Amino acid sequence: MDGTLDTPRAEAWIRTLATAVAAHEAELTALHAAIGDGDHGSNLRRGFDAVLAALGDVPAASPGALLTTTGSTLISRVGGASGPLYGSAFRAVGHALATPDEEPGSRPPTGAQALAAALAEGLAAVQRLGGAQPGDKTMVDAFAPAVDAFRAAAGSGTAAAAQAAATAARKGADATVPLVARKGRASYLGPRSAGHLDPGAVSTALLFEALAEACRED
Ligand code: ADP
Ligand code: MG
Repeated sequence: MDGTLDTPRAEAWIRTLATAVAAHEAELTALHAAIGDGDHGSNLRRGFDAVLAALGDVPAASPGALLTTTGSTLISRVGGASGPLYGSAFRAVGHALATPDEEPGSRPPTGAQALAAALAEGLAAVQRLGGAQPGDKTMVDAFAPAVDAFRAAAGSGTAAAAQAAATAARKGADATVPLVARKGRASYLGPRSAGHLDPGAVSTALLFEALAEACRED
């Protein structure tokens, strides 16, 4: 195994993330209650329950197909800002990893460099849709440093790159505490949004920690 995000690893990523979302539902909800309408945990929980059901229906043909299904399910099943944002991100990652039309016989892009490029497409989709920049106190504050760290470590392989991305995402999420929100519901609070973790940045840290766990070589 060369550390490529093959179909079993892609599935492990999504299943590990679904487990983490369920385990952290109350924490995400409490964070969101402080600077939003308090449904981030329950929204994501419902979305990933639906993703697990969708994955159970048909065996995934490829990482691209699996991640695209994940994204489409999140878009259709999660309310609030994060459903469309995470959904678009997973769809973009899935499309980037897919072969043209998933043609039989054509080889999908593999390896850490391909995954780095796909994750960058995921971030671009979030930013296209939501318009947030780093420093706006959103999931971008965890996602952008994670993509940078993954790319910087990609030469060391997928497992090392994913671990670097997870560490950077968590650090980015923690660094949202002093920020004033400029996007999403939290921005309605103005300066009162400072002093709290951004819930979406914390769920993005869970996303990259799940990827690191799925790609770990042991
Ligand atoms: P809502 O607050 O609309 O109920 P969710 O609970 O689904 O939304 O998600 C809230 C999270 O979504 C925030 O913590 C933030 O990280 C993220 N978010 C909100 N708006 C944006 C945006 N425009 N761009 C990127 N992320 C955003
Ligand atoms: Mg909401």
